[in-house]
Amino acid sequence: MVLAENASDVSRLLAFAHKHNIKVYPQGSTTSLSGSALPSDGIVLSLERMDRVKHVSVVDGIAVTEPGVRIDDLNIELARYGYMFPVDPASSPVATVGGAINSGAGGMRGAKYGTMRDWVLGLEIVLPDEEGTVMRIGCKTVKCRQGYDLVRLIVGSEGTLAVVTEATLRIMPLPEAVVTVLAFFEELADLVNTVVEIKEERLQPLIMEFMDSRTVERAVKFLEWPGKIRGHMLLVSIDINYEAANRILDRLERIVERNGASLVYTASNLEEANRKGLFDLRRSLFPAQVALARSTTRSGKVLVYVEDIAVPPSRLAEAVERLRALEEKYGLPMMLGGHIGDGNLHPAVGFDPEDADARKSVEAWFFNVMRLAVEFGGTISAEHGIGVMKKEGLKMELESLGSLKALELMRAIKQVFDPKGILNPGKVV
Ligand SMILES: Cc1cc2nc3c(=O)[nH]c(=O)nc-3n(C[C@H](O)[C@H](O)[C@H](O)COP(=O)(O)OP(=O)(O)OC[C@H]3O[C@@H](n4cnc5c(N)ncnc54)[C@H](O)[C@@H]3O)c2cc1C
Repeated sequence: MVLAENASDVSRLLAFAHKHNIKVYPQGSTTSLSGSALPSDGIVLSLERMDRVKHVSVVDGIAVTEPGVRIDDLNIELARYGYMFPVDPASSPVATVGGAINSGAGGMRGAKYGTMRDWVLGLEIVLPDEEGTVMRIGCKTVKCRQGYDLVRLIVGSEGTLAVVTEATLRIMPLPEAVVTVLAFFEELADLVNTVVEIKEERLQPLIMEFMDSRTVERAVKFLEWPGKIRGHMLLVSIDINYEAANRILDRLERIVERNGASLVYTASNLEEANRKGLFDLRRSLFPAQVALARSTTRSGKVLVYVEDIAVPPSRLAEAVERLRALEEKYGLPMMLGGHIGDGNLHPAVGFDPEDADARKSVEAWFFNVMRLAVEFGGTISAEHGIGVMKKEGLKMELESLGSLKALELMRAIKQVFDPKGILNPGKVV
């Protein structure tokens, strides 16, 4: 393992690796859920020591950081200026800027702010070539035309094209107020209608999250939550001017009630929402899945597969029905939640890694979930990336678009950046 401290370290390593045909695997905090940070034989290049926020300018609306800066640490720094970085993967306490860029990560605030590709203005990268070329691409301004958009090509490239050694990121002022409604519905169709109405009423949620009723039941049990919560969960937060907070909260409350919510909780600011635990159910999705799976495994060990499909939000009810049918078919207890604002669903199942039959079932389930997404006109990966786990899925999705030419072009691009195929080989293409 090489623990790089600056771009020159990375450059020397890549030139050396190029000369001796050694594979190099860049890593941030290795929280990737697609296997994209998995090394094989070769050198692991850790960027964790490059962890400085180099520059913040609220006038220019940018932060310049090294790749090993953790997203929460970036936000702590930005909060000193009353600013934030909007992309918020649930792994933000450890996920790094370089890892998030290369994963094309998103998060709960994706309903309003999209993913990393919308927030990276410029990059310093190092190429896996003879010299370990260090180069800059992109700008420090939002408007930027530099021929083909190489910055966007690197975002989401999963460490297969170049190593990121510095990033210029867009930043946003912290919102004055965030209002939140947590509502439960007996009928999924009512929840979907609520989402439609929120959009038609021209409200722009910051967060719009969903969990189906069976998952809610399991999460409530896991959290030992007192009270009688049941039904499908919708969690909506809107960021707004302080003066408008109560008015918007009223409108939101009226919409969920009009659509038949059986139980509604509200909060007029984030402190209140946290105090009332309005985000707890959604946050419990992953730990509840681990607990659920552990109760069924013989060895006591658990491996969790988290899917990451996106379907058009209008087709949520059909997608949930099909996903529950897959759960029955493969006999795998599934937790199902996701970002309904952008149609991104994270069905998750856990199993005993020492049980070969269970692994086979989970792999078949995983592939069929991707197939479902493609059938619904969605995508096999909204934010976790392709890595090693979704290469077949990528092929299936591109085939459904009518041709595999895109895959050929991607392989050709990989060849141009990395002619010897030494950088994070075996991932994506
Ligand atoms: C509990 C949990 C919750 C999660 N929630 C979310 C979520 O809400 N949204 C989401 O999008 N993802 C989520 N993820 C997935 C993952 O955490 C994110 O994609 C995260 O941004 C990855 O950051 P990392 O530093 O761990 O990167 P790593 O896992 O170390 O690396 C990810 C990829 O980037 C490459 N890479 C890393 N640094 C560099 C660099 N400097 N230059 C070139 N390539 C590099 C690696 O080779 C790899 O291909 C979650 C993961 C976990 C475990």
